[in-house]
Amino acid sequence: MHLPEKSPRPSIYYQYQVFDPWLASQHGTQSRHVVTIVGAGPAGLVAALELARFGVRSVVLNSELQVSQGSRAIVFTRRSMEILQQVGVADRILENGLPWRFGNSYYRGQRVFRMEAPHDEDDRYPPMTNIQQQYLEEYLLQACNANPHIEVRWGNKVIGVEQHAQYATVQVDTPEGPYTLETQWLIAADGGRSDIRSAMGLKLEGASYEGFFVIADIKIDLPYPTERLAFFDPEWNRGNTILMHREPHGIWRIDYQLPPGETPEQALQPASLKERINAQLAMIGHAGVPWEMDWSSVYSARTLTLPDYQHGRTLFVGDAAHLLPIFGVRGANTAFQDAQSLGWHLAMVCKGITTDKFLQNFSTERVTAAREIITESGKSTRFMAPPSRGFRLLRDAVLSLSLTQAFVRPLYHWRTSRPHEYKHSVLNSREDDNAFFETGPSHGAPPQNVRLNDGNFLLDHLGGGFDLLYFVDDASHSLKNTHASGSTPLTSIPSELQSVIGAFKSKGLPIQVIAIGTSKPVEGADLHLDDRLGRVKSRYGVTKSGGAYLLRPDQHICARWQELDATRLHSTLQAVLDQ
Ligand SMILES: Cc1cc2nc3c(=O)[nH]c(=O)nc-3n(C[C@H](O)[C@H](O)[C@H](O)COP(=O)(O)OP(=O)(O)OC[C@H]3O[C@@H](n4cnc5c(N)ncnc54)[C@H](O)[C@@H]3O)c2cc1C
Repeated sequence: MHLPEKSPRPSIYYQYQVFDPWLASQHGTQSRHVVTIVGAGPAGLVAALELARFGVRSVVLNSELQVSQGSRAIVFTRRSMEILQQVGVADRILENGLPWRFGNSYYRGQRVFRMEAPHDEDDRYPPMTNIQQQYLEEYLLQACNANPHIEVRWGNKVIGVEQHAQYATVQVDTPEGPYTLETQWLIAADGGRSDIRSAMGLKLEGASYEGFFVIADIKIDLPYPTERLAFFDPEWNRGNTILMHREPHGIWRIDYQLPPGETPEQALQPASLKERINAQLAMIGHAGVPWEMDWSSVYSARTLTLPDYQHGRTLFVGDAAHLLPIFGVRGANTAFQDAQSLGWHLAMVCKGITTDKFLQNFSTERVTAAREIITESGKSTRFMAPPSRGFRLLRDAVLSLSLTQAFVRPLYHWRTSRPHEYKHSVLNSREDDNAFFETGPSHGAPPQNVRLNDGNFLLDHLGGGFDLLYFVDDASHSLKNTHASGSTPLTSIPSELQSVIGAFKSKGLPIQVIAIGTSKPVEGADLHLDDRLGRVKSRYGVTKSGGAYLLRPDQHICARWQELDATRLHSTLQAVLDQ
């Protein structure tokens, strides 16, 4: 019998809500579910919300009765915010989080590098926003609870999975004992220690690093802006690295590396924590400022991934699929991208628009993304916590040189999480003009946001399915004018294109046509966006009316044309369905 903790987790700033367990005896006979998601962490909850956008129902099982313990992932990137906007929680995070864009690196007390993340008027969201993971999970849960397509079951721990050709049988333990459910698809979003991964005997591939870091969240009043602070080789922790981040609610995160040989148990002793935090505060000139401990944990970097995220009817996302170092804020930020990707691929399958084979594309794209992240984060990790004498010598040489030589300072800038570009995706069109564009997001890239004339942003209007951005020229009326009077609508999407789009819509493909460049409705377009100043057109590198971009449901670029015609649009959409 599974008996999850019923008392609220301790915290000095967050009030944990303890939910009632879901008990099979209080519900009638269950028919086979379409999708069952194991884990109500960031990956599981975003996957549920993404599926719901396509009208696909899911049941989310979580072993615990409350959201996760401690702040865990605290930094969310701009791309994550754009994904969270799609599932309706970005505004809550923006309201309550702390935006930032600068990072400072210190070596032996001297600031040697100031990182500035790019941000301009076309960005709706700041490069980074800090908020504790409990709040993120709370907002996601509220969105799930408000959605009729999602059922969350607390206190339901998955203890076994049996796979069949068309479905999986899942054994679930609860406070009244076990029950069994059947599901067409099972999403394993059960975190780094995934029971499902172990039960299936699947092995992660990659490297584990030896060094340990303590993560300590303290309540303290420090007079610093929200900027990342990194201290290399500080006097109280020679040879090691310390990171500091401001979190909402007066909390500061202090991460410090442990000297070789010290165990996590030793490091988490209250006396040891106190001594080191006081030493750090003294070093930055705030000795004696009162502080209170909220949460502490020990962390070691791993760069591991499953080589395939699909195993029969089971699909892996988030930490269950891969373990990535926290340097460069990769854990939850990567989990959102996995969940978004799985959401639309699986929805296309569940709705019968494509065949089961389509899911292999999800796996290929996300494993490729994880491998790229592993390469990048491996470099960051080796700089932050050198794994051997050779790496340490090299790192120390960079650090020493940086005191006098400006050119080495940018080497301090460990690469921050960024969205993967699906450059080699089989979904990228072979029937477009990608090669002829001089600028704008290319095949497989995430979209570029653009501020519109009315102050809103391009991404606010993307529809969740495929989006065809069709560029029209308001002033020249160069497209077919359907109204002799010249009154609205001024233009229309060419009828051959409308026929192709209509044909795919009737096959169930979710696709929205957005006419860009006019303040007046356009026949055949679901939406029109005023781009009088040509900002979208120029950022997307479109040179004339009749140019177009096709975005996938995860908003990545599938195709782009300087002049779209019906034949090429048809081949591109058909190629997606044929995968
Ligand atoms: C101590 C710690 C500190 C971290 N610090 C940072 C950080 O500073 N920065 C950063 O970017 N990332 C950090 N991370 C990583 C980040 O928290 C994860 O990358 C992120 O939570 C991944 O989301 P997920 O949904 O894949 O997994 P999780 O958030 O782990 O969610 C898994 C969920 O599955 C549930 N579950 C597990 N087993 C079962 C089961 N058998 N049946 C039913 N439910 C189950 C769990 O209760 C949980 O709700 C930290 C992680 C930990 C553990």
